[in-house]
Amino acid sequence: MGMTEITRFAPSPTGHLHLGHVASALAGWRAAMESGGTFLLRVEDIDTTRCRPEFIADLYTDLEWLGLSWPRPVRRQSAHMDDYRRVLDTLAGRGLLYPCFCTRRDIMEAAGAPHHAPDGAMVYPGTCRNMDAGRRAALLAAGVPYALRLDMARALGLPGARRLTWHEVGEGAQPCQPELFGDVVLARKDVPASYHLCVTHDDALQGVSLVTRGQDLRAATALHRLLQHIMGWPAPRYRHHPLLCDATGRRLAKRDGALSVRAMRMAGMTPQQVCNAAGAPDHISAVSSAVGSH
Ligand code: GLU
Repeated sequence: MGMTEITRFAPSPTGHLHLGHVASALAGWRAAMESGGTFLLRVEDIDTTRCRPEFIADLYTDLEWLGLSWPRPVRRQSAHMDDYRRVLDTLAGRGLLYPCFCTRRDIMEAAGAPHHAPDGAMVYPGTCRNMDAGRRAALLAAGVPYALRLDMARALGLPGARRLTWHEVGEGAQPCQPELFGDVVLARKDVPASYHLCVTHDDALQGVSLVTRGQDLRAATALHRLLQHIMGWPAPRYRHHPLLCDATGRRLAKRDGALSVRAMRMAGMTPQQVCNAAGAPDHISAVSSAVGSH
């Protein structure tokens, strides 16, 4: 018998759940149930410009309809901004953050031939990193909006930071190259936190032992591992699953409304059919009976 897993499904409520989410949720659910562990739901709703309350209500409805269950209360990231603030204060206190006043336009102009991080984001050219203290203080005093960026070079100068690996289930230790992300934003101008910060903090806080999520987030794991190292958080294991594609080979996304769980539910499909469609034929009922044998 392996270890008892704590897994999570951590959607951002920016649209209706689609089959890709179902595949992701089931991956976490199965890993938890097969090990006699716990499956958590976490709502990643820090981006108030994109998240909507009705999508939160709908995701509960969809997941319950699929037959999943999870402990309450559910962690909603937007209710815990103080937690993320504390992490930022810790990082700032260690000299690992700096304010960045650049607009998108400033970054484009300064980048010249822009480099892209593995997640497709533009690597920051470093404009505000070495700003002189007087100018920085003046901009802060004037209330110019700023993001907080990780000083990657400094972070990588911490003991052990250059030798990190993460564990991908079935593959083993993966070398980390967080430097490919450059000075990432850890607190946005419009949202005083970022995905990378919140997801890593919460996985540690909630004792997640196995992170199951789409392949699209695999590269970011190097960065998450670095944040864990800096903060002294435990490193979960990871299992990144392939993304579902439509018949034309295009990755499923929220824009494909017809493929939303809600639409399939309304169209009279059964939960079993939806799970099958998500490429999970050994579906919930099989898992539930396996769980029953514990
Ligand atoms: N909230 C993220 C998303 O919806 C997923 C976070 C994760 O699984 O690490 O894409």
